Amino acid sequence: MGEGLKLPKFSIGVGDRFAHQAKAQLAACVLAAKAGIEVIPVWNKSNREHTIIGSEPSATRTAADAAIKALGWTKPYFLDADHINLKTVDRFLAPCDFFTLDVADLIGQPARPEDVSAFVARHPELLGIVTIPRIAEPFHTTESFISGIANKFLAAVQHAGEIYRLLVEKKGAGTFIPEISMDETDSPQTPVELLIILAMIADEKIPIQTIAPKFTGRFNKGVDYVGDLAQFTKEFNEDLAAIAFSIKTYGLPDNLKLSVHSGSDKFSIYKAIYDAVKSFDAGVHLKTAGTTWLEELIGLAESGGTGLAIAKEVYAEAYAHSEELCAPYATVIDIDPAQLPTPAVVNSWSSDQFTSALRHDQSNPAYNPSLRQLLHVGFKVAAKMGPRYLEALEANESIVAKNVTTNLFERHIKPVFLGL
Ligand SMILES: [Zn+2]
Repeated sequence: MGEGLKLPKFSIGVGDRFAHQAKAQLAACVLAAKAGIEVIPVWNKSNREHTIIGSEPSATRTAADAAIKALGWTKPYFLDADHINLKTVDRFLAPCDFFTLDVADLIGQPARPEDVSAFVARHPELLGIVTIPRIAEPFHTTESFISGIANKFLAAVQHAGEIYRLLVEKKGAGTFIPEISMDETDSPQTPVELLIILAMIADEKIPIQTIAPKFTGRFNKGVDYVGDLAQFTKEFNEDLAAIAFSIKTYGLPDNLKLSVHSGSDKFSIYKAIYDAVKSFDAGVHLKTAGTTWLEELIGLAESGGTGLAIAKEVYAEAYAHSEELCAPYATVIDIDPAQLPTPAVVNSWSSDQFTSALRHDQSNPAYNPSLRQLLHVGFKVAAKMGPRYLEALEANESIVAKNVTTNLFERHIKPVFLGL
């Protein structure tokens, strides 16, 4: 499986809510190249974000292509139709060459009993004592355990197969990178579940190059990881072992790698990710999105004057509409309302006070993760401002770009891909 377009080993998913930062984002990959590592940019924007902003995937393509040209980038780059399904895929077909098939909603919906028993019968290698190289304890499985997992995930994987086949019909096999995402659900998938899911994916003949499981712990938007680091490390290593095994056993593409969703700002697990990826000689895709939008706000606030006023206005509106803004992101944010300053307080802030509260610098006592998460989901407010917001971005382009590039390179690419 897996002829055609191939995603290189290391890649970073970057979100560009307002299609103004593609150059600044690409500049971080240029810095990575200068530091000796190839990190391929993938511009991702989900249907949810396009809908909230009122933008079209074709605009993301235009912005990415322009950045590639402006910076003379000669390596690959991709456009990710992030979290799409059969209902939402249409407008992504032409501009995108990377598709994240989101089947999280179907997890738990039982598959046809005959499909479940056929799956179990087809996979004797998953039954009994299953020894996976580099997983210390073999998995002990029974028929009812495997059919239980098939009942939980098979319908979802079959649905991914349907989306994949539609993409092949519309675009042609090998002309796009398929990813399957299962991260936006309630409970994490264990490594043995991942292995069994990969067997299902191979059965559906989906040549996925990335898979996004839900990992243990909280992956909240724009803030650090919350959870058990030792448990995460063990699980991440075992996931890599399960993937390596599935490539050999099921013939999945040999560049298949983990995709870490809501991967921005998870500073406390980056070393574990770097070490594991290195020890397995594996690849990794780090998907970040809203972190760039927050850097836009930081750049505006830093520039003072109108820029700072707009950043404050975004906060005041986000504060007033927090319930509505948070609803679509309920599973991926944890805001403590008691920690949110009132707009009156924020309106009295200097540039430095605003950026100190917002910038993800845990050593700064003024850093406020609740404020940061609220603003993370608050891009709708800026979208509503329309040209006023975009003009402010353009007027302060260099200060915004500096924040966007520095954030991606220093805080993300360096620790995840360079181990620094
Ligand atoms: Zn995701």
